[in-house]
Amino acid sequence: MSIRVDDIRKTFGAFTALDDISLNVPHGELVGLLGPSGSGKTTLLRIIAGLEKPDHGQVFFQDRDVTTLDVRRRKVGFVFQQYALFRHLTVADNVAFGLRMLPRGERPGRDRIRARVRELLELVQMDTMAGRYPAQLSGGQKQRVALARALALEPEVLLLDEPFGALDAKVRKELRRWLRHLHEQISVTSIFVTHDQEEAMEVSDQVVVMSQGHIEQIGTPLQVYEQPASRFVFDFLGHINALEGHYDGQTWRAGEAFLRLDTEGACPDGALTLYLRPHEAALSKSPSEVARLPVTLAGRSVFGGTVTVELEPAEWGEGMLEVELDRDSWRQLDAQRDDTLYILPRLLQTVTCDGELGPRVRPA
Ligand code: ADP
Ligand code: MG
Repeated sequence: MSIRVDDIRKTFGAFTALDDISLNVPHGELVGLLGPSGSGKTTLLRIIAGLEKPDHGQVFFQDRDVTTLDVRRRKVGFVFQQYALFRHLTVADNVAFGLRMLPRGERPGRDRIRARVRELLELVQMDTMAGRYPAQLSGGQKQRVALARALALEPEVLLLDEPFGALDAKVRKELRRWLRHLHEQISVTSIFVTHDQEEAMEVSDQVVVMSQGHIEQIGTPLQVYEQPASRFVFDFLGHINALEGHYDGQTWRAGEAFLRLDTEGACPDGALTLYLRPHEAALSKSPSEVARLPVTLAGRSVFGGTVTVELEPAEWGEGMLEVELDRDSWRQLDAQRDDTLYILPRLLQTVTCDGELGPRVRPA
C-alpha cells in the first residue's frame, strides 16, 4: 500500500506546523522522517494516521483518498515512544487485544487468535515471554511487544513515532538493526519518525529531512549525506567544522591560515565560509604547499576504531575544531597535547555569502 501526501498544510492558531508538504512512500518501503524536535514530524504522522485533520491537502493510500476517513478504518498500525502496553494484561493478551475487540463478524476464532499471537511473538522474538506482564520486561522488549500488537490487525501501513526514543544507546542500535531485518520479512509500507540522524540513516530506504514544517530534502541515506540540498541538511547530518575567511579567486585566508582552492570560477571573490566534515581531513606535523591550517592539539577521544581529535585554531578561527582519524593514522601521527598540528582537508563544502551551499571543492 503506497502512501501519498499532497500539499498538506496544518496550522495551530497562528502557527504553521506543516507548510504544504508533499511526499510519496512507495509500497513496501521504509521511509525515515528525520528532523529536529518541533519540525512537524509527529503532526505529519498523525495526519497520515487519521488522528489529526489537515487544513488543506490530501492523503492517499494507494489511489484511495483517505483524508476524511476515520482512523479506525485506515488500517494503520501505530507504535509510539511510550510503551502503551496494558499493564494488567500479559504479553500475549496485549498482542491479542485488538483481535478480541473486533466486531463478532470479523473476529477470528479463539484458536486462530492464539495461533496468530504465537506467530507474532515469534516474529518479534518474544515467544518465550508470552506469559509475562509489562512490568517484567525491559524497555526494548516492551517496544517489541508494542510492535507485535501494532501488527496484529494486519495493518497496510505501519507508523512508528520515535519508537526507540526512550531506550539507551546500545539497545537502540540493536533494535534498529532488528527492525530493518523485520521490515525485510514483512515489507509493510512504513514511516519511521526520528530526530536521530544515525538512526534514520541506518533504518531507512529513503530519508525525508524536515525543518520548521517543510521538507528540506528527500533521498536515500547516501544522497542526503553526500549531496545535501541545503545548508540545513548539511548541518543536520553530522558534526561540521565551519571555517570563516576570505577568498581571492585562488587562496582562501583567515589570519595566518591559508588554503589554495580551485573553485573553477564558481566562488566570487570575498567572504567565503568552508564546511569541513571531521572525517574529510588528515593531520600532519607540517603544513603542505596548498594548506596551512595550524591548530593546537587540545584533546582526543577514542570510540571504536575512530579517534576524534579536538583542535584549537592557532590564531585564526574561533571555537574548537574536530578531525576524525582511524587508530593507525592517530598512532603514526604520534602527537601530544599542546603540539602544533596542521589540518590537511581533502574535501570542503563552500557556503556563499547569501548562506546557500556553493560547490564542493578540493585543495589545489
Ligand atoms: P516533532 O514531532 O517534529 O517534534 P510536532 O509535529 O510534534 O514536531 O510539532 C510541530 C510544532 O507544532 C511544534 O512547534 C508544536 O509545538 C506544534 N504543535 C503540535 N501539536 C500542537 C497542538 N495540538 N497545538 C498547538 N501546537 C501544536
Ligand atoms: Mg514528535
